[in-house]
Amino acid sequence: PELINITAFANALKIKPQDFLAQLGELGFEGVTLDSLMAGETAALVAQEYGYEPTVEAGDKQDLKPRPPPEDASLLPSRPPVVTIMGHVDHGKTTILDYLRQSSVAAQEHGGITQHIGAFSVKLSSGKQITFLDTPGHAAFLAMRQRGANVTDIVVLVVAADDSVKPQTLEALKHARAAKVPIIVAINKIDKGGARIDAVKSDLAGAGVEIEDFGGDVQVVCVSGKTGQGMDDLEENILTLSEILDHRSEVDGPAEGWVLESSLKPTGKVATVLVKRGTLRPGDYIAAGLTWAKIRQLRNEAGVDIAEAPPGTPVEILGWKDLPAAGDQVIQSPDEDRAKTAVSYREGLRDREKDATEYEAITEARKALQ
Ligand code: GDP
Ligand code: MG
Repeated sequence: PELINITAFANALKIKPQDFLAQLGELGFEGVTLDSLMAGETAALVAQEYGYEPTVEAGDKQDLKPRPPPEDASLLPSRPPVVTIMGHVDHGKTTILDYLRQSSVAAQEHGGITQHIGAFSVKLSSGKQITFLDTPGHAAFLAMRQRGANVTDIVVLVVAADDSVKPQTLEALKHARAAKVPIIVAINKIDKGGARIDAVKSDLAGAGVEIEDFGGDVQVVCVSGKTGQGMDDLEENILTLSEILDHRSEVDGPAEGWVLESSLKPTGKVATVLVKRGTLRPGDYIAAGLTWAKIRQLRNEAGVDIAEAPPGTPVEILGWKDLPAAGDQVIQSPDEDRAKTAVSYREGLRDREKDATEYEAITEARKALQ
C-alpha cells in the first residue's frame, strides 16, 4: 500500500511537524511519532480535515483484471452449460446428482468417482457435455453474484411429485429469478405411489412459473432419481436450452474462472475451480483473491491428472501459496511477478479499507465525546 511518513505529511500540509503530532493526538491517533508511516487512504482522510481534497493514486494497473467481454460472442466455440440443482429439502437433489455423477465423464473413463470435488461433467451419447455444480451451501454463489457473476447458466428446480411446491422451492425460484438464470423443472419421485404430477404443475403455475404445459416456455421433465427414469430427457432438455441460450467462450487468451471450493488435503492446498474463459494448464500462473498459484497439477473429479481445462470444466488445482476462498475470481497471470504484484496490491487495498474504517470509528467516537 501507499504509505506516507508523518514528517513528510506535515510538510505537505505546511504544518510544523511537532504541532501536527499534537493535532493527530487530538484526532485520536495514538503512539504516532515523526517517523511513523500512515496509509495513503488514512492520510487522505486526515488531509480532508485540513481542507484539502487529496487523490489517492489508483494502482489499477498493478491488479489482474478479467478481460473485456468479446465483441462478437457468436464467433466463439460452444462450451458446456453449467447447471445447479436446487429445490426443497428431501425432494431428491442429492439422489439426482448421484445418479448423474455415475454417468460422469470421469466415472465412465476411470471406473467411478473416488472423491467429491464440488462439480462434475457428464458426457452424453452425442459427445456433448454438461457440467453440474454440486457445491453445498449458497455462500459461494452469493459471493460470486455480488461480483456480478453467474457461474450457473441453468437451474434445475427439483420438485417431489408427492410433496409439490414447498417453501424452499419458492426460495430457489426467488434466487434463480434474482440471478436471471433460466430454469428447468424436474418433477422427481414419479416412481412413487402418491405421485401427483398434475397437482405439482398447477402449483408451479400458481407460483408464477410459466411452464410449457400452460403455454409458457419453462420445460418440465418427469424423473426418478431412484430408477433413473426420465434422466436422459432431463439431460437432453438441458442441452436444448443451452443451444438456445448459445453458451460460448474463448478457449484462448488469459483464462478466467471461479473458486467453487477449497480445502487443505493430504496432497496440499486444493481448490476446485470452474474455468469460464480460456484454458488452464499445469505450469500456468493464476491469482485468486489474496493468493496465487503456479499450477502444479490439474485433476478431474476422478482425481486423474489432466493436461488442460477448457471453458466449462470443473477442475481441482494444486500449487496454491495459500488457500483461496470459495467465490474468489481466478485470473491467469502472464508470469509469477504479475501474480505476486496483483496479490500485494489487493492486500494493500484491504489494509487501506481497514484503516479507513478505523479512522471513521475514531471520528465517530470523537464526535460523540464533543
Ligand atoms: P435432497 O434433500 O433434496 O438432497 O433429497 P435426497 O436426495 O436426500 O432424497 C431424500 C429422500 O428421498 C431419500 O430417502 C431418497 O432416497 C428419496 N428419493 C430421492 N429421489 C427419489 C425418487 O426418485 N424416488 C423415490 N422413491 N425416492 C426418492
Ligand atoms: Mg441433499
